[in-house]
Amino acid sequence: MNPSTVNASPSCMDDYDPASLLSEQATERIQAAVTPISVCEKINLRAALDRVLAQDVHSRIDVPSHTNSAMDGYALHADALPDDGTRELKVVGTSWAGHRFQVPVKAGECVRIMTGAVMPEGTDTVVMQEHVEQTPDGIRIDARHKTGQNVRHAGEDITAGDTVLRKRHRLIPADLGLLASLGISEVAVTRRVRAAFFSTGDELRSIGDPLEPGMIYDSNRYTLYGMLTRLGIELVDLGVVPDTREDTFRAFEQGAACADVLITSGGVSVGEADFVKEALEQLGQIDFWKVAMKPGRPLAFGKIKDAYFFGLPGNPVSVMVTFYLFVQPALRTLQGERFAPPLLLEARCGSNLHKKAGRTEYQRGVLKRDADGQLVVDKTGPQGSGILTSMSDANCLIVLPLESETAEAGSLVQVLPFSEII
Ligand code: AMP
Ligand code: MG
Repeated sequence: MNPSTVNASPSCMDDYDPASLLSEQATERIQAAVTPISVCEKINLRAALDRVLAQDVHSRIDVPSHTNSAMDGYALHADALPDDGTRELKVVGTSWAGHRFQVPVKAGECVRIMTGAVMPEGTDTVVMQEHVEQTPDGIRIDARHKTGQNVRHAGEDITAGDTVLRKRHRLIPADLGLLASLGISEVAVTRRVRAAFFSTGDELRSIGDPLEPGMIYDSNRYTLYGMLTRLGIELVDLGVVPDTREDTFRAFEQGAACADVLITSGGVSVGEADFVKEALEQLGQIDFWKVAMKPGRPLAFGKIKDAYFFGLPGNPVSVMVTFYLFVQPALRTLQGERFAPPLLLEARCGSNLHKKAGRTEYQRGVLKRDADGQLVVDKTGPQGSGILTSMSDANCLIVLPLESETAEAGSLVQVLPFSEII
């Protein structure tokens, strides 16, 4: 048997198909095939949210830039702290955030200081205002305090020259603040990825058109629109393509010519009206086209000229699950992001979950904590690949492994929270 295909015993696998890849193998093959975009552009900070850094970012300054107080209180020199008992100090002025106290502080003196204000010359310690007693001339402090307390030192967070963010990192709101704190107004990011997509099927109608008997509205272009938009992808919507060889081939040529990635839904099986696999074979190269999973088999991956190709199944849930598991990580890698598999959690099943051996199943679930604080997961209801409400109602995928059959109520299962992928 080909080592890259399912290698479980066919006897326990009524859905066994030697041409199917395991889900993990499909991920590996895709990640190995995708070369990140190298073209980059300089853009301003606000526009850089959710974009991927093309270069490391170094700080040109120390953060904080000056040694300053972490508390509202009194700045003094450690020599002024009493060994035991108490000590009285004269308050000679105030250091405000943004308005430093200019005069050097001498023995027996202290300065009222606000959080973030620069430490005056001659001081190295701050005593919190709640820990002093007022006297007619100044303050009285006791012996509980330590040298250097409540002081933030110049460069303690970041030192000039430090690498603060590495290339291949997708910028989150914290990063915008971090870059702003360094006075950086522009960053180099990879250019946006462009994805073309179309739906296949003679039965599909677009919203706004009348729905004749036997026809259905095209929902896949809307879920794809949503999922791609969340990733910051430039979209080319090629509409609905009829189930003919000519139309399918023409749409393939058009999509591959204008985008980095072409994504289709439907028509990828081997029925009389399925032309996607044939088009990929003739116009490009197939890497694989079946994965031992549900929902989601068949799923075609390959290349047409310079464009990566994903032929997703037609069923609406299959489109979403295969997109999140395979297309989204590929798009992130293409955008230059470092690949990191999503974090799975373990939860107890609220009821028996049935599946067939020989395929990994991704059932839609609702994950919550029970009264004891334990994570429990229940499936959303009927799990048909066409039941899109199962995705709308869910907050996770329950990942049931290849060889397993029923997961008993109360047993531990792996879940992939939507917060990891959506
Ligand atoms: P196919 O893989 O083309 O045989 O499609 C499998 C199932 O998914 C069929 O029931 C199709 O009607 C349905 N389907 C295919 N494309 C779409 C779409 N764009 N929106 C909604 N359902 C679809
Ligand atoms: Mg079809």
